[in-house]
Amino acid sequence: MAIKSSKPDIERIVEPISHEEDIISEVSLRPKTLEEYVGQTQIKKHLRVSIESAKIRKSTLEHILFYGPPWLGKTTISAIIAHEMTATIKHTSGPAIEKQSDIISLLTSLQEGEILFIDEIHRLRPQIEEILYSAMEDFQIDIMIGSGTGATSVKMDIPRFTLIGATTKLSNLTNPLRDRFGHVLKLDFYNTKDLSTIIDRSFRILWYNELNTEALEAIASRSRWTPRIANRYVKILRDYATVWHEINNKKACDTIFESFGVDIHGLDILDRKLLQHLVTTFHGTPVGLSTLASIIGEEIGTIEDVVEPYLLQIGFIERTPRWRKITQNGEMYIQSIQ
Ligand code: ADP
Repeated sequence: MAIKSSKPDIERIVEPISHEEDIISEVSLRPKTLEEYVGQTQIKKHLRVSIESAKIRKSTLEHILFYGPPWLGKTTISAIIAHEMTATIKHTSGPAIEKQSDIISLLTSLQEGEILFIDEIHRLRPQIEEILYSAMEDFQIDIMIGSGTGATSVKMDIPRFTLIGATTKLSNLTNPLRDRFGHVLKLDFYNTKDLSTIIDRSFRILWYNELNTEALEAIASRSRWTPRIANRYVKILRDYATVWHEINNKKACDTIFESFGVDIHGLDILDRKLLQHLVTTFHGTPVGLSTLASIIGEEIGTIEDVVEPYLLQIGFIERTPRWRKITQNGEMYIQSIQ
C-alpha cells in the first residue's frame, strides 16, 4: 500500500518559494554574464571555450545538460549562455509539454541559433522524448499525415538550435536522451567564500550599507551552500537592517536567524524533525523514504530533492536507493540540541 504524505503546516524559510516581491528583486539579482556568475569555475572555463569555438565556427552550441540539486544556478547559467551567444532563449519545462503537438509547435517555431531551455527534463513523457531524439541529432522531426492505415510519416527540417536541459535527477533520464547531449555538466554546492561573494553582491544591488565579514559569514554559513537561499536571507536581513539599522555583527545576525528557527548549520525545523525521527523513532537503523516521508508529514519529492542533498553533504545522514539512516555526526548534532 502506498503511504500518503501531507504538506507541513509551516512554510519553510529555507525553501524559497517565489513571492511577487521575490520575483521582482530576483531579476535584479540574477547575474547576466559569465563574469558575474560566481563559482562553478570548471564549468565556466569549459563553457567559455565552447561558446568561443561556436562563435568562430559560426555554428550553434552542442546541446547542454545541467544537473544537480535545486537552486544552484542551472536556469541562471542557461540564460547567461544565451546572452553570451547573443541568442534568444525560450523557457519551458518537462511537465508543461503535455502533447506531441506541444513539442512540435515549440520546435517548429524556433529560429536558427535559438536556445530551447527545458527545466525538469527528466519529467518529459516518452512520446515527447522520441520526437526530441531526431530533432536534437538531425534537426528534423517526423510528422504523421493522415490517420489509420493511410497514415504516412514525413520528415520535416527544423532550424539548428541548442537544447539546454536542467534536471535534479540525472538518474531518471533515459540513456538515449542523455547520450544526445554534447555536454553533461554537474553544478556543485557553493563554498562559503563564493557564497559570501554572492551575498555581498546581492546586498549591494539591493542597496543597503555594505555587510562586514561577520555578517557575511553569518549568512553564508546558514545558506546551505545554495545561492537562492543566500539571496532570500539577504532580503530578510535588508528588512531587519531597515528597521533596526544595525545588523552588521554576529550577535544581531544570530538573533535574527534564531527568530525564524534557522540554526548555525542552516538547518530548520523540518531538517531537525527528520534527524530526530531517525534517532528516536528508528534508533539509527535504516528506514525507507516513503515511511520517513509519512512520519514527518512531508512530500517524498521535497525530502529527496531539497532536504536530503544538504544533510548528505554535511555528513548528517547516509542513503542508498532503498534506505536512509543517521550518521554519528547527525546523532551528535541531535544530542547537542536536546
Ligand atoms: P536552479 O535553476 O538551479 O534551480 P537558479 O538559476 O534559479 O537555480 O538560481 C537561483 C538564484 O540564485 C538565481 O536567480 C540567482 O539570483 C542566484 N544564483 C544562482 N547561481 C548564481 C551564481 N553562480 N552567482 C550568483 N548568483 C547566483
